[in-house]
Amino acid sequence: MSKFGVRARFLGLCSEGVSAWAVALVALVAGGLLSATLALAAHTFYKQQLRQRFELLASERYSRIAERFDDQQQRLDGLRRFFSFSNEITPREFDGYARPLLQRTLAYAWAPRVEAAQRADFEQRTSAWLGQGYVIRDQDAQGNWQPAPLRDHYFPVLYTQSADQPALPYGLDLAGQGARQATLARALEPGSMAVSEPLQIMDAEAGRPAAQARGLLMVAPVFSDAAPHGAAAGYVMALLNLRELISDGLPALADDNLVVRIEDPSGLQGPEVVFDSQNEAAPLALASSQLLHLADHPFQLLVRPSVAFLKANRSSAALTVGLLGGLLSLLLSALLYSLFSQRQRALTLVEQRTAELRVSEQSLRGTHNQLRSVLDAATQVAIIATNLKGVVSTFNAGAERMLGYTASEAIGQLRLEDLVLPEELSQRAHALSQRYGRCIAGGQAMFAETVQESGAEPGEWTLLRADNSHLLANMLVTAMLDEQGLWVGYLAICIDVTERRRVHEALAARDRLLEKLSAEVPGGIYQYRLDADGSSCFPYASKGLYDIYEVDLQQLHEDATLVFERIHPDDLDRVRRSVRYSADHLTPWREEYRVCLPRAGLRWVRGEATPEVGDAGCTLWHGYLTDISDLKGVEEELRALSVTDALTGIHNRRYFQERLKVELDRAQRDGLALAVIMLDIDHFKRINDQFGHAVGDLVLRSLCQRIALRLRRTDVFCRLGGEEFMVLCPGSDAEQARLLAIELWQGVRNVPIEGVGEVTASFGVAGWRPGEGADALLWRADAGVYAAKQAGRDRVEGELT
Ligand code: GH3
Ligand code: MG
Ligand code: MG
Repeated sequence: MSKFGVRARFLGLCSEGVSAWAVALVALVAGGLLSATLALAAHTFYKQQLRQRFELLASERYSRIAERFDDQQQRLDGLRRFFSFSNEITPREFDGYARPLLQRTLAYAWAPRVEAAQRADFEQRTSAWLGQGYVIRDQDAQGNWQPAPLRDHYFPVLYTQSADQPALPYGLDLAGQGARQATLARALEPGSMAVSEPLQIMDAEAGRPAAQARGLLMVAPVFSDAAPHGAAAGYVMALLNLRELISDGLPALADDNLVVRIEDPSGLQGPEVVFDSQNEAAPLALASSQLLHLADHPFQLLVRPSVAFLKANRSSAALTVGLLGGLLSLLLSALLYSLFSQRQRALTLVEQRTAELRVSEQSLRGTHNQLRSVLDAATQVAIIATNLKGVVSTFNAGAERMLGYTASEAIGQLRLEDLVLPEELSQRAHALSQRYGRCIAGGQAMFAETVQESGAEPGEWTLLRADNSHLLANMLVTAMLDEQGLWVGYLAICIDVTERRRVHEALAARDRLLEKLSAEVPGGIYQYRLDADGSSCFPYASKGLYDIYEVDLQQLHEDATLVFERIHPDDLDRVRRSVRYSADHLTPWREEYRVCLPRAGLRWVRGEATPEVGDAGCTLWHGYLTDISDLKGVEEELRALSVTDALTGIHNRRYFQERLKVELDRAQRDGLALAVIMLDIDHFKRINDQFGHAVGDLVLRSLCQRIALRLRRTDVFCRLGGEEFMVLCPGSDAEQARLLAIELWQGVRNVPIEGVGEVTASFGVAGWRPGEGADALLWRADAGVYAAKQAGRDRVEGELT
C-alpha cells in the first residue's frame, strides 16, 4: 500500500471508508469545543464587565447619596450657625435664610426653648405675629392635635419653611413626644446632630400619611448664653423625604440601572427598610452593601442591578461566538469531509489504477514470457527478427538449431541476407529487378515482395548454415509494425523442408509406381470411403476403374453416386446391402453384379475389398474391381449345360429338382398352388427293340417337342431319365394339372410318330398340399403313373387321395 493509503487509514483510524467521517467528526468536536471555550470566555468577560460596570454604578450611587446626606448635614449646620450667631431671628430672616436651602429638603424649622412659665406669653406673641392662633401642641397616635400638657419646657415649632406646604406644623412640641425627645437628647452636644427614627410623612392638608413617604427628622441644637447651661436654646430641624433625597435627579424608575434600598439597622424589630426604589431587580448575583451616615445615624445602603441594567448591558457575544463558532466548525467539518472524501476517492482511484497497471504489467510480462517460451520451444522453426536494415535482433532456439549459430553470434552481427545462399539471392534480385523495372540489390530481394505486396507467400530458400552446409527451408518474411502502424523491422519464419522434400519425392515415386502397377492390373484398384451420414466417395481410383464404370474418376473422388447409378437395378439393392454388411461387421466384401454402361452395355463386374475403420466414423475399403463378363458367359453356358438334357434339349433331373425346391418354397411362402404331371412312355423298350435305339432317341425328341408346344411359359418340362418326364405347373392345382395332362396325353397319342406309329404314355398327376415335401409330392405323382400303367397304360390317372 502506498504511504498515502497508510496515512489515510491512520487518519481514518480504522479504514479509509470512514476516515472522512471521522476527520469531519473530529473537526466538528474540536470546533465545537473551541467555540464553547470562546463562548465561555466571552461570557466570563461579559460577567466581569457587568460586575465592573455595576460596581462603578453602585459606587457612583453611593457617592451621590452620601454627598446628599452630607449636603443636608452642612445646610442644617449652616442654619444652626445662623441661629447661633444671631441674637434674635425674625421670621423674615428665617425665611430669607432657609428658603434657598430648600433643595431636596421638605422643610426647615426652628423650635426655640420655651419655659413653662413663658408659654402663655410665647403663644400670645406668636399668635400675634402669625396672625393666627398659635398653641404649643402635641399630636396623638390618631393624628389629633391637642394643646401640650404642662412641661418644664417646650420646644415648639416656631418657624417653618417648606417648599409647598408646612411640613412641620406650627406649635408642634418636639419635647412632647418620646421619640423626638430622645432625638433631641442625642443631639445635645455642641456641634452634634441627630436623626430621628424614620417617620411617616404626613400630608398636612389631608391630615394623613403621604403616600410612599418616609422621612427623617434631623435636628441640631442651637446654644446661646441665654439658655440654661447645658441646655439648648432651641433646635433647628430639617425634615427630609428620603425618596426625594435619593431619587431626585435620577432617571425614571423604569430606566434606573440600580435597585436601591436603604435599611435602618437600628430598628427595634430588626433592620427596617426606609427606602426601596421598588424597581425590578435583575436575576444577577451582583450586590453592593455599604454603610451611610446621616448625622449620628447609620444606614445600610443596599444596591442591586435592575432589569434596566440587564437590558442596557445585555450581550449576545457569547451566543454569537458560540453560534458562529459552531457554524464555522460545521462548515469546516463539511469542507474537511468533502476534501477527505475527494482525496480518498482520488486515492482509491489511484490504487485501483495502480492495481490495474500491475495486472496489465503482469499480463504483459506473462505474455512476454509466453512469447519467449514459444520462441524457445519452437525448436523446429527458426524465428528471426531484424531491424529495418536486416540486422538480426531476435534469434530463437529453432534458428540456433537449424543454422548452427548461437543467438549471441547472430544478434547484432549477422544480417538476414547472410543466412541465404548468395547465388540464389542474386538470382532473385535479378528476377525482381526485371519484374519491377528497377534495380533491386541482393539484400533487398528478401524484403522486396514484402514491401511491395504487403506480405508475401512463403518462399523456398537455400539457407547457409554456420558450417557452410546447405539447408532447404520455407521462409516467410513479414513486416513488423509498431503501435502507429509504422514499419520497425522484419520477421522471418523458416521451416526446414529438406525432410519434407525427401518424403514428398518418395511419395511421388510411390504414386508413380502405384500408377504403373495399377495400369497393369486388369480392372481397377480403389479406395472407397463410406461416411457415417451415408455419403461415399472414391478417394483413390486407378485408371482401370474408368473402364469398369465409364465415369469421370475426378468426380468419384468427391462422390460415388455415379457408380451406383451404373449398377443394374436388379443387383443394386444386393450390392448396397453387402456393402452395408461389410461395414457393419468389417468382413471382406465380395460381390458380382451387373453394370449398365453407356458404351459397353451390360457387363458383369466382380469386386473384392477389405474394410477398415477410418476417421470420424467412416469406413474405408481397399480393393479391386474387374470385368468378369467373359467368365460369366462361360459360366452361364456351363450352367445351361448342366441343367439341360443333351438328348432332348429340355431341362434335366437336376434342374427339375432345383426348380421344384424353389417353387415349393414360393408356394409355401405365398400360399400359391402347385402341381406336377409325371409321364412314362408306354412300352418304350419295345420301340427300342423294334426300331433300334436311335429311333428310340428320335421318339424321345419328337415327343418332347409335342409336349413343349402345349405347355405354358411358366410350366417347367424336364426329363427325369430314360423315357420318364415331369411337368412342373406353378400356380395350378391338381384339377388344372389333370386337365393339362389330358391335353398332353391326347397330343402324344393322337399324332403318330413318323416311322414308328402311335406312341402313348401314362400320366400321373399330384397337386401340392400345404406342408407337403418334395418327396411326398413326387411319390404321389409316381404312384399315379404306376396306377395308370396298372390300369392298362395310355391314360391319365387323376390325383390319388
Ligand atoms: P412300360 O413302361 O410300358 O412298362 O414298358 P417299358 O418298356 O417302357 O419299360 P422299361 O422302363 O422297362 O423300359 C425302358 C426302356 O427304355 C429301357 C431302355 O433300353 C430304354 N431306354 C432308356 N434310355 C434310352 C435312351 O436314351 N434311348 C433309347 N433309345 N432307349 C432308352
Ligand atoms: Mg415305359
Ligand atoms: Mg420307364
